[in-house]
Amino acid sequence: MSQSQPGMSVGELFVAWRRILSGRAPMLSIEITRECPLSCPGCYAYGDSHLGGEKKLTELSDLRGDALVAGVLGLVKKHRPFHVSLVGGEPMIRHRELSQILPALSQQNFFTMVVTSGIIPIPMEWMGLRRNRVAVSIDGLPEHHNPRRKPATYDHILENIRGREVNIHWTITGPMMKRPGYFEEYLAFWQARPEVKRIWVSLYTPQQGEHTPEMLTIEERQRVARELPGLREAYPKLLMNPGIGQALLEPPKNPQECLFSKMSTNFSADLTTRVEPCIFGGTPDCSQCGCVASSGLHHVQRRKVGGLLSIGHLVRGSTAIGSLMNRLRSGSVNPSRWNLTPRVSPAAGLVQIGPGGSD
Ligand code: SF4
Ligand code: SF4
Repeated sequence: MSQSQPGMSVGELFVAWRRILSGRAPMLSIEITRECPLSCPGCYAYGDSHLGGEKKLTELSDLRGDALVAGVLGLVKKHRPFHVSLVGGEPMIRHRELSQILPALSQQNFFTMVVTSGIIPIPMEWMGLRRNRVAVSIDGLPEHHNPRRKPATYDHILENIRGREVNIHWTITGPMMKRPGYFEEYLAFWQARPEVKRIWVSLYTPQQGEHTPEMLTIEERQRVARELPGLREAYPKLLMNPGIGQALLEPPKNPQECLFSKMSTNFSADLTTRVEPCIFGGTPDCSQCGCVASSGLHHVQRRKVGGLLSIGHLVRGSTAIGSLMNRLRSGSVNPSRWNLTPRVSPAAGLVQIGPGGSD
């Protein structure tokens, strides 16, 4: 899944803000299927705690065919977000349904993003859709990516994106930090591909209490923040700047401080179960969050509006107004976390997840 929508402009944030004032989260993320042909080590979507511990993604009843198309369009109609992420499992398992959903959402002017492992060819006709992006998760150079994500190996991905336009989403894990020159090698490869429009970077985000080799040390995070922004000039497709680099060093302390968490509503494959407190589900360790969307928003939230309030203050105040608006009308749709304190990690039974999350 490894999803994100980095790089929101201030203008887009204002559109999002209007949604919040009316009691609606501006971003909607939907795990449209519980299925995936990959079995990446430690994928968070299939972790026991992803949906809060009562049930697992594999135990949900998911939909397909016309029921899925109607279900997704119905959710979007109800929540009226600004941006819709369609994830999984592997969402391309439902590419026929997506070929109906995406044009319908495009026609209604929604921004959409499909986040995929690249295991299934991306339909060429999607390339003509307004406001739609496809993001392909490519976790490192072939030495790391191929064993983890087989059969979605470099060869298959290159075949399946040929002639299309995609964004690359790179989750940096601990093993990638061990070899000098790794960043440049990765960026040089994907910068040169004509299919690639943008390269987004996230750092591996662990769950609370996790200790796995995929996690980055503080020194490694500092190296990413120091080195990656400087590579933007040589690799202009890289979405990174010193502010985002700095934000990666100072992630939100908990979901209540996380603008991304406040601005998104996330549903799992039955289109009813919510994924909380953010797309990772479970009990993510916010202090080590490396989600590029969260970092990007955490970065812009310090910007002042009219020289007075910061965007962060504005959004937090607005969620209170949005909650009030919801109470004044029936059928509340806002995320429950607009009102609640964060979930605490269970003392035991944590799932040790590995790299990358899910596609
Ligand atoms: S892990 Fe925490 S900081 Fe990161 S996106 Fe989720 S809620 Fe926000
Ligand atoms: S990380 Fe994504 S591609 Fe891998 S098993 Fe999980 S859902 Fe599938």
